[in-house]
Amino acid sequence: MFNIILFGPPGSGKGTQSQNLISKYGLKHLSTGDLLRNEISRQTPLGLEARHFIDIGQLVPDEVVIGMISSALETNPEANGFLFDGFPRTEAQAEALDKLLELKKTSIAVMLALDVSEEELVKRLLHRGQSSGRSDDTNENIIRSRIVEYENKTKSVADYYARFNKVVHIKGEGSVDEIFETLCHEIDKRKV
Ligand code: AMP
Repeated sequence: MFNIILFGPPGSGKGTQSQNLISKYGLKHLSTGDLLRNEISRQTPLGLEARHFIDIGQLVPDEVVIGMISSALETNPEANGFLFDGFPRTEAQAEALDKLLELKKTSIAVMLALDVSEEELVKRLLHRGQSSGRSDDTNENIIRSRIVEYENKTKSVADYYARFNKVVHIKGEGSVDEIFETLCHEIDKRKV
């Protein structure tokens, strides 16, 4: 199994690059944002709880997203690897993920962290909001709250993986193809 975390602030291109990476490497894509939006559209109790946090640009509680990832791992026993997108977003989530993967006798091979300036993030998210249908992409205050959450709670997750020498920082500005090539280069170096 080969497991990757695609990391970075909201708007750094994780979703776009995930699509390219899963088709090239045959990984199972696990995006907690997508899983939560699916719960919301089905109006499940989990979705109703999560919605409030998403609408104000705050993180959903750890136990909610960890539970979701745990069941996604269980329901995909045949996967030959996972690409985690938008997860883990706190150190508690990172520790929980390590434990869940350990139970499956596997681990994270690498965290690929996309670096993008704040002004570029806001610009991209507002642009995406014109077509994504996501209410959290249309309001600049909510976008800025999401970036503050990233700075306060998520950014340090990279330090957690750096302790195990698993982090590679990649410039997330430039063409989609250029960035994809750099990501593939880093993956190919580690894939046996
Ligand atoms: P995303 O699609 O990754 O930008 O996520 C959209 C929103 O879902 C975030 O602003 C959070 O409110 C929530 N969310 C997604 N993933 C997580 C996570 N791992 N932990 C907590 N909240 C999350």
